[in-house]
Amino acid sequence: MKKQFKAESKKLLNMMINSIYTNKEIFLRELISNSSDALDKIYYKSLTDNNIKIDKKDLKIRIERDTENRTLKIIDNGCGMTKEELENNLGTIAQSGSLTFKEENKDQTDVNIIGQFGVGFYSAFMVSKKVEVLSKSYNSDKAYIWISDGEDGYEIKEAKSETLGTTITLYLKDDTEDMNYSEYLDEYKIRSIIKKYSDYITYPIIMEVNNRVLKEGSDSEYEDKLEDETLNSQIPLWKKNKNNITEEEYNNFYQDKFFDYEKPLKVIHTNVEGQCSYNSILFIPSHAPYDFYTKEYEKGLQLYTNGVLIMEKCSDLLPDYFSFIRGIVDTQDLPLNISRETLQQDKNLKIIAKSIENKIKNELTNMLKNDFEEYKKFFKSFGTQIKFGIYNNYGIDKDKLKDLVLFYSSNKKELITLKEYVDDMKKDQKNIYYASGETIEKIDNLPQVEQVKQKEYDILYLTDYVDEFTIQALMEYEKKKFMNVSSSELDLETKEEKEKTESKNKEYSDIFNLMKESLDNQVTEIEFTNRLKNHPVCLTTKGNISVEMEKVINAMPTDEKIKASLILEINKNHEIADKLKELYENDKEELKKYTKILYAQARLIEGLQIDNPTEISNLICEIMSK
Ligand code: ADP
Repeated sequence: MKKQFKAESKKLLNMMINSIYTNKEIFLRELISNSSDALDKIYYKSLTDNNIKIDKKDLKIRIERDTENRTLKIIDNGCGMTKEELENNLGTIAQSGSLTFKEENKDQTDVNIIGQFGVGFYSAFMVSKKVEVLSKSYNSDKAYIWISDGEDGYEIKEAKSETLGTTITLYLKDDTEDMNYSEYLDEYKIRSIIKKYSDYITYPIIMEVNNRVLKEGSDSEYEDKLEDETLNSQIPLWKKNKNNITEEEYNNFYQDKFFDYEKPLKVIHTNVEGQCSYNSILFIPSHAPYDFYTKEYEKGLQLYTNGVLIMEKCSDLLPDYFSFIRGIVDTQDLPLNISRETLQQDKNLKIIAKSIENKIKNELTNMLKNDFEEYKKFFKSFGTQIKFGIYNNYGIDKDKLKDLVLFYSSNKKELITLKEYVDDMKKDQKNIYYASGETIEKIDNLPQVEQVKQKEYDILYLTDYVDEFTIQALMEYEKKKFMNVSSSELDLETKEEKEKTESKNKEYSDIFNLMKESLDNQVTEIEFTNRLKNHPVCLTTKGNISVEMEKVINAMPTDEKIKASLILEINKNHEIADKLKELYENDKEELKKYTKILYAQARLIEGLQIDNPTEISNLICEIMSK
């Protein structure tokens, strides 16, 4: 007589089968994990019960394929289930025998039970039209078989079995146009699923496979021979003692797992015991993957619970600014069947993520301190990500990251930290100076850096497009403000110099007004400056948006365009100053032409486009011909 599944409708089962797992192949992972739990249980019982004689090395999981009958068997010699257990564990969805077992044996910390959610078994119905569970418990001398098509209930019958343990037989669904269920009978498919999800199950998973071997008595002829093979490697690298792992082992592990042709720059292997326990091996790659700075790149760590892969890329384990880290995390403190949504809310996962973040930060800080050459390599690949992290989310993480960034120093001609900059500041120096441009050479030739250099103040040269946004998010470092050498607020003159400039500006105010008009007010201001030593003109900016930022933002593929508020600064000690006055008095039309050329010069020096190159070129020729 068929019994109805308890306390839950067909609908619920359907939902479980179709929505908890999006990816069908994991049924094998679930069943193997159940077998592994069953083996753990019998082994554990044998330690306390003298009637159970077990040799740990006999405990195994077997996979049997029958392509003719389209069945797949998962066989274990674990604890098995009594009739009642079959009824309770498999007849009730979300009833987990493992959880009960775990609770009953709470203080026994070495019991590693994977399942505790009570739905894994049902994933078998994702690929099977019928499932049979033949089981003989160590508590019973009779064996029973549980049979169900997953649709309308199950039945349990007495059955025959010589040995203890459980055999699960899956009758695979028929192939459809978009689903090839037969592939779950394929040796290579099974191998690869086991490698992927269950490689670190501590018991051997054995399958009979076809091997090409030398024919008996021959030294050249081969024949196919069926042989047992263990498909899983059983001991995860992260559970091995760190002292026994060679660099090569780490490197191979990294390169195999994360498909990198280069070895990692750094390995961070940690075993954390405490509030939440986990093992992890994290890698800092030695170069950015080709898609790293694109939308396609997905951050995340491989997440295992008890050696079983539950998520390929768990993004919640890494903050965005450390998205370059590859690696694995294995913990006992998360259930196997956790969904992505529940996982995000999980308190333990948050604790682990926090701890991992600290480990990464410490490692980077140590590298910066003790192996600067290595750190520079790292920074070359991933520095932009760290700088991005500083200004992202309104600068919420900037304090964590500010000591990890490097900028080029004009004095040292080398990358330095902000701390080094501030430690080496001159006594009278108030600000941290920076200048932006495309390359170090171009910045070095900017007229605006002259004045700061004369004071022997160091200048940070910013060449990465995110740099200025990062600096603006930081606002200050150790109470020292950042100051763009092109800012109108630079303020490096003495009181005397300032007064001189001011009076000269007053004297020229009508001239400058006319000049401004001739530029159609493209600049906010025209004024004399002390900033320049040899150059006749330069552009500076007022407010938060610098010329470089204008370039970066306007190059982005959005409609939002911004404009820096420009000041055309003229060197008051340059001969051109007198020329302008002379023209104002004698030939105002000519003054307008000169102004246009001066403004075009200033833009070109900044690396900005000019809107009217033909006009400017004609004007220059006209003046040259005079
Ligand atoms: P979970 O493994 O999350 O507890 P499952 O639905 O996968 O939930 O399995 C339900 C229960 O059935 C398990 O907790 C376990 O008690 C029992 N079980 C499943 N597979 C086996 C097996 N191979 N041997 C012994 N017991 C099993």
